[in-house]
Amino acid sequence: MTQVVIVGAGPTGLACGIELKKRGIDALLIDKGCVVNSLYHYPTNMTFFTTPELLEIGGIPMTSLNEKPNRTEALKYYRRVSDHYALTIRQYERVVRIDGSDGAFTVHTTDRSGEAQAIACNKVILAMGYYDIPNRLDVPGGEMEKVIHYYKEPHPYYGHDVAVIGAKNSAAIAALELFWTGARVTLIHRGERISDSVKYWIKPNIENRIKVGEVKAYFRSSVAEIRQDSIRVATPDGDVWLKNDFVFSMIGYRPDFEFMSAHGIHLDPVTQKPFINADTLESEAKGIYLAGVVVAGVHTNEIFIENGRFHGAIIADSIASSLGLGL
Ligand code: NAP
Repeated sequence: MTQVVIVGAGPTGLACGIELKKRGIDALLIDKGCVVNSLYHYPTNMTFFTTPELLEIGGIPMTSLNEKPNRTEALKYYRRVSDHYALTIRQYERVVRIDGSDGAFTVHTTDRSGEAQAIACNKVILAMGYYDIPNRLDVPGGEMEKVIHYYKEPHPYYGHDVAVIGAKNSAAIAALELFWTGARVTLIHRGERISDSVKYWIKPNIENRIKVGEVKAYFRSSVAEIRQDSIRVATPDGDVWLKNDFVFSMIGYRPDFEFMSAHGIHLDPVTQKPFINADTLESEAKGIYLAGVVVAGVHTNEIFIENGRFHGAIIADSIASSLGLGL
């Protein structure tokens, strides 16, 4: 029997596995995708906003060619850390349900062959991140294939009419890269302006592109309808139809609230934050711990790799003490 199953092999899940291992507790990590699957799906050429030491886990130094690491460097780093600590990770296996109670859980999964598996364990850590569930545009046509929730790279959109929705970092970066690559870009945002939380080296760039009309922008506006070759935008001056080939819905992501609720973890009705013991990160469902951005509810901007990585040690201390291993 495995002592602990960790759902999710992102930086936070890896940090949990490492901290448990340091305390002599064996853990099995399970991820429905690859190791650090969300980072893998980030924009191909992304550079982190943070410096390498703030992404480190397990005390392993991270280096970067430049001041801030890029996605490729981060992928390499987390692979090396996983190797170094010889973590046991099952990739491409989806956790579908957790049965049982503290000390005697069964984690039910579907492996990459589609076979059902059942894993017995004492404790469970949910470190599932939030990048799998994009916020959706609740408008006619919002589910069309041309509505893209994960911006990867601009090349395929050269010579096309694209709309970017949102006005924070993801939207600003996507709009700029698409414009530089020869797409005709319109940014549509429900607020008054580009958000103040857009990084200082990005904000003036997108604002200037808008000012000179290279990127069109509709503020205090929303997409009301999406069709194959056009979109309807509700603006303060009435509806406008725009020619459109692709819509980049850069409106954020959210944790899997349904999964938590289904396992007896109640959520705050306003923030959707799960009720947890703040000292141990144990949830209301005894023996199930929450790590990383899953604790943040809809306020996903509160937890990043930089702070979520410390959840591992908090949870590992609590599990060690609960298993009678002392500290
Ligand atoms: P975000 O910060 O959640 O921003 C979402 C944007 O979509 C906001 O402008 C929001 O408007 C708008 N929005 C939300 N729901 C909407 C709806 N239903 N209809 C219309 N608009 C809606 O998302 P993000 O930009 O993807 O950033 C997510 C996190 O990733 C942040 O922590 C960010 O710093 C980080 N990030 C990091 C990098 C990097 O390291 N290189 C790059 C990009 C992003 P309101 O402002 O009105 O709520």
